[in-house]
Amino acid sequence: MLRLYNTLSKKIEQFIPLNPPRVGMYSCGPTVYDYTHIGHLRKYTGDDLLRRILEANNYEVKLVMNITDVGHLVSDEDSGEDKMEKGARETGRTVWEVAKFYEDYFWKSVDGVNIKRPNIVAKATDHIEEQIKLIHKLEKNGFIYQTDQAIYFDISKFPDYTKLSGQKLEEKETGVREDVVVDKQKKNPYDFALWFFTVGHFTGHTMRWSSPWGEGFPGWHIECSAMSMEYLGDCLDIHTGGIDHIPVHHTNEIAQSEAATGKPFVKYWVHHNFLIVDGEKMSKSKKNFYRIDEILQKGFDPLALRYLFLTAHYRDRLNFTWESLQAAQNALNNLRETIRDWSAVILGSEERATPESLDSTDSGLTSFARMTENYYQKFMDAVNNDLNTPQALAVLWDMVKSENPSAAKSKSILEMDKILGLKLDEYLGRPIEVPKEVQKLINKREQARKSGNFEESDKLRHEIKKLGFEVKDTPSGTKVNG
Ligand code: AMP
Ligand code: ZN
Repeated sequence: MLRLYNTLSKKIEQFIPLNPPRVGMYSCGPTVYDYTHIGHLRKYTGDDLLRRILEANNYEVKLVMNITDVGHLVSDEDSGEDKMEKGARETGRTVWEVAKFYEDYFWKSVDGVNIKRPNIVAKATDHIEEQIKLIHKLEKNGFIYQTDQAIYFDISKFPDYTKLSGQKLEEKETGVREDVVVDKQKKNPYDFALWFFTVGHFTGHTMRWSSPWGEGFPGWHIECSAMSMEYLGDCLDIHTGGIDHIPVHHTNEIAQSEAATGKPFVKYWVHHNFLIVDGEKMSKSKKNFYRIDEILQKGFDPLALRYLFLTAHYRDRLNFTWESLQAAQNALNNLRETIRDWSAVILGSEERATPESLDSTDSGLTSFARMTENYYQKFMDAVNNDLNTPQALAVLWDMVKSENPSAAKSKSILEMDKILGLKLDEYLGRPIEVPKEVQKLINKREQARKSGNFEESDKLRHEIKKLGFEVKDTPSGTKVNG
């Protein structure tokens, strides 16, 4: 049974979906005005893990993710410059080109770390009508007001506005930044914009649509409420995001969704902690972020990054260093070797001797299989305990290091990898990639062996070992391990 930490209740709860076995899950997606960095990838990998764990528990997951291509403002408050317009201006492209370019980069990045694509990807610009409809509902229910610049949500009308963050409104108010340009007609500094008019500051805004209140464009928060409810209904099982979304974006999503429907918007709120670099949040504005390209350029496999993410619990911060990525790469390489080494067993062409199979009784083999099932069970217990991936990896390594690999045990690894997503199955039966110079030595050794020159063959074996490869003579021929 899956247990999940719920930001709303601030407790770990048993996961019981609204309409089992179906699970409706919404993940706040990228704002496509700049490059996706590896901090973002940690968050999307976390969502992917949760989805895979739900699937391993036999739930039918419908994952919806938005693409914020309307652009939103440089600060979470309703002021500052629009991010998309800024990106366009800086690169000499149109806003639509900017959005397309960065969206492509986003997909390239998430594919690199083997994140499964959502069932539905919803672009904000394709759902303007749904957003207008939702604002309309809020108008009917008496939650909005209009100024010269925008339509706002009136938070004083919504009880328990800060229930997600648990913050007091007064505490929030002390955090108002001085550089924020406030719309003087706003009733409360925390009222947030649902629709901006293309006037004043936004006269030149490229993306604009007509609405019952006047020409303009939607605020950022409204898109997630409109699109999540469009595809998942008024009540969602799970909504995810980064921890930075708790006090503003998700707080506002709850207010506007619940004010429109009168129903609880989300049952479980899941928030991922940050990837940091040298103790600081990795962020676009700080320019201390790395992208998937840098990972590749330095010769790492993007899946090593995924492995690194798995070594930390999603609610803890993770400090990125190149050394920790190297350690993750080594661990991943070892797992791949294990799979390659066990290929014949997994693929059924070779029987491995196990203490039980030596007894050659069926019951012996069954008990061995049961032992590996125990590992799988322990692994599932770990991931079902609020996604405890560090613990799950420990179970995996216990299993790998335990004696006597067997077919059952090897299959367990692949079952576990359906959750971990390290593509270990690609190494099943994959011939080892041996560099040319090593292959030459292997051939020479074969000749020496065939001609009975065992001294020479042993010498060559040592030379090969120095280059990081091991030759084994088996009844079915010479084999090489990396
Ligand atoms: P953005 O496109 O900047 O709005 O971010 C998209 C998602 O990535 C949000 O859920 C953020 O909370 C999350 N995110 C941004 N920076 C980081 C980081 N350094 N580590 C983890 N998640 C992040
Ligand atoms: Zn969102």
